[in-house]
Amino acid sequence: MARGLLIVFSGPSGVGKGTVRALFADREELNLAYSISMTSRPMRPGETDGVEYHFVSRDEFEKAIANDELLEYAEFVGNYYGTPKAYVEKLRDEGKNVLLEIEVQGASIVKEKCPDALSIFLIPPSMEELERRIRGRKTEPEEIIQQRLAKAQREMNMMSRYQYVICNDDAQLAADIIALIIERYARAKQQEEEQK
Ligand code: 5GP
Repeated sequence: MARGLLIVFSGPSGVGKGTVRALFADREELNLAYSISMTSRPMRPGETDGVEYHFVSRDEFEKAIANDELLEYAEFVGNYYGTPKAYVEKLRDEGKNVLLEIEVQGASIVKEKCPDALSIFLIPPSMEELERRIRGRKTEPEEIIQQRLAKAQREMNMMSRYQYVICNDDAQLAADIIALIIERYARAKQQEEEQK
């Protein structure tokens, strides 16, 4: 069985990655599995351990770093986030195309380690709209919102590192385009493998 692809999906905090992902992730033809990251961020209301993230303490996270258990990790607005290596490898070995929803520093590391990874960056229609979306979430204090907004500006400067930049004006349209990109990429990779 062919090994699955790695797909890096990034975009500034609040752009709607989760919403867009939910609109394409279940399409059977994409054969996707979502990589559940590890984080030291506190759980938000409505989140469940093992669903959005594996929630751990800073100590536990640092142990995972020391034991080389992470494919990549980064610090984002005061918390650690990282991709469990063994889990991703297992899914790829099972032939699944693995989706990593990660920020830009982690994405750079993945691109270095796995140059074949497909990379997609989601942008908001405008920075004003992004601010409205971050504030609309109403889950973070003002100080954190300000930090996330400043970070979003810096993240937007990194979009040229990605193969595809998609605007999330209409979430369904963005999801349809991303699904098409993944399908085409997977097909091209398969043809490459067959010609080897
Ligand atoms: P949030 O706190 O809003 O859930 O996530 C903050 C940022 O961390 C988002 O841009 C999210 O995509 C990113 N993130 C989530 N998991 C990972 C991960 O495993 N590695 C890295 N580098 N970033 C992650």
